[in-house]
Amino acid sequence: MPVRMNGHEVAKALYAELRETLKELPYTPALRVVRLGDDPASVAYTRLKDKRARELGLDSRLLALPSETSQEELLALIGELNADDAVDGILVQLPLPGHVDAQAVIEAIAPAKDVDGFHPFSVGRLWTDGRALLPCTPAGILRMLDHYGVELAGREAVIVGRSNIVGKPLAALLLARHATVTVAHSRTRDLPTVTRRAEVLVAAVGRPGFVTPEMVRPGAVLVDVGISRVGGKLVGDIDPRAHELSSAFTPVPGGVGPMTVAMLLANTVQAARWRRG
Ligand code: NAP
Repeated sequence: MPVRMNGHEVAKALYAELRETLKELPYTPALRVVRLGDDPASVAYTRLKDKRARELGLDSRLLALPSETSQEELLALIGELNADDAVDGILVQLPLPGHVDAQAVIEAIAPAKDVDGFHPFSVGRLWTDGRALLPCTPAGILRMLDHYGVELAGREAVIVGRSNIVGKPLAALLLARHATVTVAHSRTRDLPTVTRRAEVLVAAVGRPGFVTPEMVRPGAVLVDVGISRVGGKLVGDIDPRAHELSSAFTPVPGGVGPMTVAMLLANTVQAARWRRG
């Protein structure tokens, strides 16, 4: 029987660890979550991040700005948060409205407070010595694979998807753990041949049921990052029929998703400890 890797369980274990760490700290780490506009998914994600941060006992505030907020106004707010010694982590929810240059916003956040791990400084550190605030979804995936004892060294890992927030940083993390990593994308030729090589197969495409059983090597570990809404239900990128072939898999919902928020809070605590010493 394949192992069902439960993100809620792993996140719970991480929260317990963070609670112990917080007891030792003489201060309360502070997170500021910034959102522009009322995109329903962004509203849901930012509320959840703020709620989980408060439940853990962090000093969290959700700063919801109107969608017409100009780039200058947003950059000025980030400047204030950078300068505020009481703030440890800054997260600006993406995507941003079209009139705002997201990369300029990402680069405006002080790297020491970059709890999303998207600043070029964090990205550079990720690919070099690894001493960085790591992007939450890839870091959460690694944490989950470790929790379930998935061996990575020397194994063939294939990631489908090369986004800056999932595919590319996950490639760096798996490479650092000595996997042989292939990153596939929409121009990859004969994708099923590539994915069938994978002992660890990660799907981060955003297309429901994209990975079919024919694309899976029997015994592979399957990690499903995709989240799509189909008929009011959340579904992943991996066709559930492929789960039966695997040795372990992450379900959607309840797999990678809960880990992303947990890692954000872990990053906030880490940022506080690095910055405050
Ligand atoms: P993205 O930026 O849209 O990237 C999608 C990737 O899939 C691209 O690299 C694209 O290739 C590739 N792709 C598209 N069609 C393909 C095809 N036919 N064959 C092979 N590759 C194909 O997506 P993302 O931001 O990484 O997110 C991916 C999914 O994960 C979404 O469903 C998102 O909602 C979900 N997500 C979940 C979490 C979580 O916490 N669970 C976090 C982040 C994202 P090209 O580069 O060639 O276009």
